[in-house]
Amino acid sequence: MKAAVLWEQQQALKIEEVDHRQPGPGEVLVRTVASGVCHSDLHMIDGLWPARLPMILGHEAAGVVEKVGSGVSHVKPGDHVVANFRPFCGRCGFCVSGRPYLCDNQEAADPGAAEDRVTLDGRRVEIFTSVGSFAEYMLVPETGVLRVRQDAPLEKVCLVGCAVMTGIGAVTNTAKVGAGARVAVIGAGGIGLNIIQGARLVGASQIIAVDLLDSKLELARQFGATHTVNAANDDAVARVQEISGRQLDFAFESIGRPQSATDAFRMIAFGGTVVIVGMMPLKSEITLPGFAFLFEKKVIGCMYGSARVGIDMPRLIDLYMDGRLMVDELVSREWELEGINDAFSLLRSGEVARSIIRYG
Ligand SMILES: [Zn+2]
Ligand SMILES: [Zn+2]
Repeated sequence: MKAAVLWEQQQALKIEEVDHRQPGPGEVLVRTVASGVCHSDLHMIDGLWPARLPMILGHEAAGVVEKVGSGVSHVKPGDHVVANFRPFCGRCGFCVSGRPYLCDNQEAADPGAAEDRVTLDGRRVEIFTSVGSFAEYMLVPETGVLRVRQDAPLEKVCLVGCAVMTGIGAVTNTAKVGAGARVAVIGAGGIGLNIIQGARLVGASQIIAVDLLDSKLELARQFGATHTVNAANDDAVARVQEISGRQLDFAFESIGRPQSATDAFRMIAFGGTVVIVGMMPLKSEITLPGFAFLFEKKVIGCMYGSARVGIDMPRLIDLYMDGRLMVDELVSREWELEGINDAFSLLRSGEVARSIIRYG
């Protein structure tokens, strides 16, 4: 099969012919239909996170089940699926307490990863987050896919696999934002736009989008932002405080930039909450004024929108199919696999919400 392979960080991906093995016990082989191009993939290319190489990136994906291994019961060939990039063991403390996104027993969650799934001339190729959707097929553990309704367009709902789930889950699951809350969102990219529409869905009274590009702030308005702040021209903290009357309940950081987290902390009111959704570079540190904690300011982390994928993803797809969730509008460009490096260049420039790679 064809796959885009990362051989070296800070280098372009190379399209290669690779081999995948057949699904073993508890594994599912999926024909990839579409994959989003996400900032986390870009972080791996740029070397912000360490990577074992060579590696196939891509983790925001949808496809059709081709074959299943022994013991797989919840999907069968022909089923439409969205990838879950946090497979879970179902037995550890996190799993049994309803937090599978924190499962710390990844060896049990994905035992097949120990045996080479994909090889190139006999050499092992690593798979990013057990998904590896920049390839024509994905061989994944059973909990790495979720069956979805057959009438949902896979080239759109692939985005539920990361950006939509993470952004909306950050609002509804992680932060539990209530109706009437005042919310600021730093960064109006794929994740930020979904935080914005999540805040709209739960009835936030003010949704203040902060970004450096007017084109993204325009998109933010379409997704539900009530106010926009261009941080290139304005002091973002002062502007957000002014708009919210110093009553901001939540500030979401969606970029993965330490300074934005510090800004978010300064934006929130006493008792307010900062939610760090963006993926921070591995060795980064966040500076916060210690005294402010006396006034019960909070900072919380967010993994995958605290997703319980079996419950949350079908609900999100139903909302989309009912016309209440904007997903089509996230897709700015579609590419064949050969265009993947161009898709990353566009993502780096900040000009697109999401690019999609389509197969076949
Ligand atoms: Zn992602
Ligand atoms: Zn677990």
